[in-house]
Amino acid sequence: MIRNTVDILGVPVDHVSMSEALEKVKGFLASDRAHTIYTPNAEIMMAAQRDSALMEILRQADLLVADGAGVVLASKILKRSVPEKVSGIDLVRKTFTLKQSKKIRYFLFGGKPGVAEAAAEKVLAQYPDAEIVGCRNGYFKSEDEEAIILQINASKADILLVALGAPKQEKWIHMYKSQLNVKVCMGVGGTLDVLAGQVKLAPEFMRKAGLEWLYRLYKEPWRYKRMLDLPRFTLLAVKNRFLG
Ligand code: UDP
Repeated sequence: MIRNTVDILGVPVDHVSMSEALEKVKGFLASDRAHTIYTPNAEIMMAAQRDSALMEILRQADLLVADGAGVVLASKILKRSVPEKVSGIDLVRKTFTLKQSKKIRYFLFGGKPGVAEAAAEKVLAQYPDAEIVGCRNGYFKSEDEEAIILQINASKADILLVALGAPKQEKWIHMYKSQLNVKVCMGVGGTLDVLAGQVKLAPEFMRKAGLEWLYRLYKEPWRYKRMLDLPRFTLLAVKNRFLG
Protein backbone atom coordinates (compact mmCIF):
# COMPACT_ATOMS: atom_id res chain seq x y z
CA MET A 1 0.00 0.00 0.00
CA ILE A 2 1.40 3.38 -0.99
CA ARG A 3 1.77 5.84 1.87
CA ASN A 4 1.50 9.57 1.69
CA THR A 5 3.29 10.88 4.75
CA VAL A 6 4.39 14.27 6.00
CA ASP A 7 7.63 14.65 7.92
CA ILE A 8 6.90 16.29 11.26
CA LEU A 9 10.21 16.71 13.09
CA GLY A 10 11.48 13.41 11.78
CA VAL A 11 8.26 11.46 12.27
CA PRO A 12 6.47 10.39 9.04
CA VAL A 13 2.85 11.10 9.98
CA ASP A 14 0.29 9.81 7.47
CA HIS A 15 -1.55 12.46 5.47
CA VAL A 16 -4.96 10.90 6.09
CA SER A 17 -8.45 11.93 7.08
CA MET A 18 -10.41 9.71 9.46
CA SER A 19 -12.15 7.93 6.58
CA GLU A 20 -8.84 7.35 4.77
CA ALA A 21 -7.35 5.95 7.99
CA LEU A 22 -10.29 3.55 8.20
CA GLU A 23 -9.68 2.43 4.60
CA LYS A 24 -6.07 1.68 5.59
CA VAL A 25 -7.28 -0.43 8.51
CA LYS A 26 -9.54 -2.36 6.13
CA GLY A 27 -6.54 -3.00 3.89
CA PHE A 28 -4.51 -4.28 6.85
CA LEU A 29 -7.37 -6.62 7.82
CA ALA A 30 -7.34 -8.11 4.33
CA SER A 31 -3.57 -8.74 4.41
CA ASP A 32 -1.56 -11.60 5.86
CA ARG A 33 0.79 -9.92 8.31
CA ALA A 34 0.67 -7.84 11.47
CA HIS A 35 0.53 -4.11 10.77
CA THR A 36 1.36 -1.47 13.36
CA ILE A 37 -0.63 1.67 14.09
CA TYR A 38 0.50 4.34 16.53
CA THR A 39 -1.18 7.59 17.42
CA PRO A 40 1.56 10.14 18.14
CA ASN A 41 0.57 13.25 20.07
CA ALA A 42 2.87 16.15 20.99
CA GLU A 43 4.25 14.29 24.02
CA ILE A 44 5.19 11.23 21.97
CA MET A 45 6.68 13.41 19.21
CA MET A 46 8.89 15.11 21.81
CA ALA A 47 9.77 11.79 23.44
CA ALA A 48 10.91 10.57 20.01
CA GLN A 49 13.26 13.58 19.71
CA ARG A 50 14.99 12.37 22.87
CA ASP A 51 14.71 8.60 22.36
CA SER A 52 16.17 7.36 19.08
CA ALA A 53 14.78 3.83 19.59
CA LEU A 54 11.26 5.27 19.84
CA MET A 55 11.89 7.42 16.75
CA GLU A 56 12.95 4.33 14.79
CA ILE A 57 9.86 2.40 15.96
CA LEU A 58 7.60 5.23 14.79
CA ARG A 59 9.42 5.34 11.45
CA GLN A 60 8.77 1.65 10.93
CA ALA A 61 5.02 1.92 11.63
CA ASP A 62 2.46 1.10 8.95
CA LEU A 63 0.16 3.94 9.95
CA LEU A 64 0.78 7.02 12.12
CA VAL A 65 -2.21 9.23 12.75
CA ALA A 66 -2.04 12.77 14.10
CA ASP A 67 -3.52 12.38 17.57
CA GLY A 68 -4.12 15.80 18.99
CA ALA A 69 -4.36 19.44 18.04
CA GLY A 70 -0.63 19.94 18.73
CA VAL A 71 0.43 17.62 15.92
CA VAL A 72 -2.05 19.18 13.48
CA LEU A 73 -0.81 22.67 14.41
CA ALA A 74 2.84 21.61 13.99
CA SER A 75 2.02 20.17 10.55
CA LYS A 76 0.54 23.55 9.57
CA ILE A 77 3.51 25.50 10.95
CA LEU A 78 5.82 23.27 8.92
CA LYS A 79 3.66 23.87 5.80
CA ARG A 80 2.96 20.14 5.54
CA SER A 81 -0.58 20.22 6.80
CA VAL A 82 -2.37 16.94 7.61
CA PRO A 83 -6.09 16.97 6.70
CA GLU A 84 -7.45 16.61 10.22
CA LYS A 85 -6.88 15.29 13.70
CA VAL A 86 -7.38 11.52 13.82
CA SER A 87 -7.32 10.64 17.49
CA GLY A 88 -6.69 7.09 18.64
CA ILE A 89 -9.94 6.87 20.59
CA ASP A 90 -12.01 8.11 17.64
CA LEU A 91 -10.27 5.76 15.21
CA VAL A 92 -10.83 2.78 17.53
CA ARG A 93 -14.51 3.67 17.91
CA LYS A 94 -14.91 3.97 14.14
CA THR A 95 -13.34 0.54 13.57
CA PHE A 96 -15.97 -0.92 15.94
CA THR A 97 -18.60 0.20 13.41
CA LEU A 98 -16.87 -1.31 10.36
CA LYS A 99 -19.05 -3.84 8.63
CA GLN A 100 -17.02 -6.73 7.24
CA SER A 101 -18.18 -10.11 5.97
CA LYS A 102 -17.26 -11.52 9.39
CA LYS A 103 -17.27 -9.59 12.66
CA ILE A 104 -13.85 -8.09 13.45
CA ARG A 105 -12.31 -9.82 16.48
CA TYR A 106 -10.58 -7.64 19.06
CA PHE A 107 -8.19 -8.44 21.86
CA LEU A 108 -7.99 -5.75 24.56
CA PHE A 109 -4.59 -5.70 26.27
CA GLY A 110 -3.69 -3.17 28.95
CA GLY A 111 -4.99 -1.10 31.81
CA LYS A 112 -5.44 -1.99 35.44
CA PRO A 113 -6.99 -5.37 36.30
CA GLY A 114 -10.66 -5.38 35.25
CA VAL A 115 -10.45 -2.37 32.93
CA ALA A 116 -10.21 -4.38 29.69
CA GLU A 117 -13.16 -6.55 30.76
CA ALA A 118 -15.24 -3.48 31.66
CA ALA A 119 -14.33 -1.90 28.31
CA ALA A 120 -15.30 -5.14 26.52
CA GLU A 121 -18.71 -5.15 28.18
CA LYS A 122 -19.41 -1.55 27.12
CA VAL A 123 -18.16 -2.14 23.57
CA LEU A 124 -20.32 -5.26 23.13
CA ALA A 125 -23.38 -3.38 24.37
CA GLN A 126 -22.76 -0.40 22.09
CA TYR A 127 -21.28 -1.90 18.92
CA PRO A 128 -23.06 -5.00 17.60
CA ASP A 129 -20.50 -5.42 14.79
CA ALA A 130 -17.49 -5.85 17.09
CA GLU A 131 -16.47 -9.10 18.72
CA ILE A 132 -14.17 -9.20 21.75
CA VAL A 133 -12.20 -12.43 21.91
CA GLY A 134 -9.82 -11.73 24.78
CA CYS A 135 -8.77 -9.39 27.56
CA ARG A 136 -5.61 -9.07 29.62
CA ASN A 137 -4.52 -6.35 32.05
CA GLY A 138 -1.36 -4.38 31.38
CA TYR A 139 0.56 -5.23 34.53
CA PHE A 140 2.91 -8.16 34.05
CA LYS A 141 6.48 -9.36 34.49
CA SER A 142 8.75 -10.12 31.57
CA GLU A 143 8.41 -13.85 32.26
CA ASP A 144 4.63 -13.55 31.61
CA GLU A 145 5.09 -12.20 28.11
CA GLU A 146 5.33 -15.55 26.35
CA ALA A 147 2.01 -16.63 27.88
CA ILE A 148 0.44 -13.30 26.87
CA ILE A 149 1.50 -13.82 23.25
CA LEU A 150 0.12 -17.38 23.32
CA GLN A 151 -3.15 -16.07 24.77
CA ILE A 152 -3.45 -13.41 22.05
CA ASN A 153 -2.66 -15.88 19.26
CA ALA A 154 -5.04 -18.51 20.65
CA SER A 155 -7.84 -15.92 20.65
CA LYS A 156 -7.53 -15.56 16.84
CA ALA A 157 -7.96 -11.82 17.19
CA ASP A 158 -7.78 -9.59 14.09
CA ILE A 159 -7.04 -6.36 15.94
CA LEU A 160 -4.93 -6.12 19.08
CA LEU A 161 -5.39 -2.92 21.07
CA VAL A 162 -2.39 -2.33 23.34
CA ALA A 163 -2.95 0.15 26.18
CA LEU A 164 0.25 0.23 28.23
CA GLY A 165 0.87 3.99 27.97
CA ALA A 166 3.50 5.55 25.71
CA PRO A 167 6.22 4.61 24.91
CA LYS A 168 5.80 1.23 26.61
CA GLN A 169 3.06 0.11 24.23
CA GLU A 170 4.98 1.13 21.09
CA LYS A 171 8.08 -0.72 22.32
CA TRP A 172 6.06 -3.81 23.28
CA ILE A 173 4.33 -3.95 19.89
CA HIS A 174 7.59 -3.45 18.03
CA MET A 175 9.28 -6.21 20.00
CA TYR A 176 6.55 -8.82 19.50
CA LYS A 177 4.77 -7.97 16.23
CA SER A 178 6.54 -10.74 14.31
CA GLN A 179 5.27 -13.32 16.81
CA LEU A 180 1.67 -12.09 16.79
CA ASN A 181 -0.84 -13.70 14.43
CA VAL A 182 -3.03 -10.62 14.23
CA LYS A 183 -3.60 -8.19 11.35
CA VAL A 184 -3.37 -4.98 13.33
CA CYS A 185 -1.50 -4.01 16.50
CA MET A 186 -2.48 -0.57 17.68
CA GLY A 187 -1.05 1.44 20.59
CA VAL A 188 -4.02 3.11 22.24
CA GLY A 189 -2.82 4.74 25.51
CA GLY A 190 -5.69 5.45 27.86
CA THR A 191 -8.40 4.33 25.40
CA LEU A 192 -9.50 1.29 27.42
CA ASP A 193 -10.01 3.50 30.50
CA VAL A 194 -12.23 5.76 28.38
CA LEU A 195 -14.17 2.85 26.83
CA ALA A 196 -14.64 1.35 30.29
CA GLY A 197 -16.14 4.67 31.40
CA GLN A 198 -13.45 5.18 34.01
CA VAL A 199 -11.87 8.24 32.43
CA LYS A 200 -13.89 10.97 30.76
CA LEU A 201 -12.89 12.65 27.52
CA ALA A 202 -12.96 16.43 27.37
CA PRO A 203 -16.36 17.84 26.37
CA GLU A 204 -16.96 17.83 22.62
CA PHE A 205 -16.67 21.62 22.23
CA MET A 206 -13.20 21.54 23.85
CA ARG A 207 -12.09 18.59 21.70
CA LYS A 208 -13.28 20.43 18.58
CA ALA A 209 -11.41 23.57 19.66
CA GLY A 210 -8.22 21.55 20.17
CA LEU A 211 -8.30 22.20 23.92
CA GLU A 212 -8.29 18.60 25.21
CA TRP A 213 -4.90 19.34 26.79
CA LEU A 214 -6.49 22.10 28.90
CA TYR A 215 -9.15 19.69 30.16
CA ARG A 216 -6.47 17.13 30.94
CA LEU A 217 -4.43 19.72 32.83
CA TYR A 218 -7.52 20.55 34.89
CA LYS A 219 -8.28 16.87 35.59
CA GLU A 220 -4.74 15.63 36.10
CA PRO A 221 -2.68 18.70 37.13
CA TRP A 222 0.22 16.49 38.25
CA ARG A 223 0.89 15.80 34.59
CA TYR A 224 1.89 19.42 33.96
CA LYS A 225 5.61 18.60 33.64
CA ARG A 226 5.00 16.11 30.86
CA MET A 227 2.48 18.44 29.27
CA LEU A 228 5.13 21.14 28.88
CA ASP A 229 6.13 19.04 25.88
CA LEU A 230 3.17 20.53 24.03
CA PRO A 231 4.49 24.14 23.93
CA ARG A 232 8.05 22.78 23.50
CA PHE A 233 6.91 20.78 20.50
CA THR A 234 5.12 23.76 18.94
CA LEU A 235 8.19 25.97 19.46
CA LEU A 236 10.42 23.34 17.92
CA ALA A 237 8.16 23.27 14.86
CA VAL A 238 8.37 27.07 14.60
CA LYS A 239 12.17 26.96 14.95
CA ASN A 240 12.39 24.25 12.32
CA ARG A 241 10.21 26.17 9.90
CA PHE A 242 12.01 29.50 10.16
CA LEU A 243 15.57 28.49 10.99
CA GLY A 244 15.62 25.28 8.92
N1 UDP B 1 -0.73 0.91 31.85
C1 UDP B 1 -0.59 -0.46 31.83
N2 UDP B 1 0.59 -1.00 32.23
C2 UDP B 1 1.65 -0.26 32.63
C3 UDP B 1 1.51 1.16 32.63
C4 UDP B 1 0.31 1.72 32.22
O1 UDP B 1 -1.52 -1.17 31.46
O2 UDP B 1 2.67 -0.82 32.98
C5 UDP B 1 -2.00 1.50 31.41
C6 UDP B 1 -2.67 2.38 32.43
O3 UDP B 1 -3.43 1.59 33.33
C7 UDP B 1 -3.57 3.22 31.54
C8 UDP B 1 -2.80 3.29 30.22
O4 UDP B 1 -1.76 2.35 30.33
O5 UDP B 1 -4.77 2.54 31.27
C9 UDP B 1 -2.25 4.65 29.89
O6 UDP B 1 -1.45 5.07 30.94
P1 UDP B 1 -0.97 6.57 31.08
O7 UDP B 1 -2.14 7.46 31.28
O8 UDP B 1 0.12 6.60 32.09
O9 UDP B 1 -0.32 6.75 29.64
P2 UDP B 1 -0.33 7.92 28.57
O10 UDP B 1 -1.64 8.65 28.65
O11 UDP B 1 0.84 8.75 28.94
O12 UDP B 1 -0.14 7.19 27.26
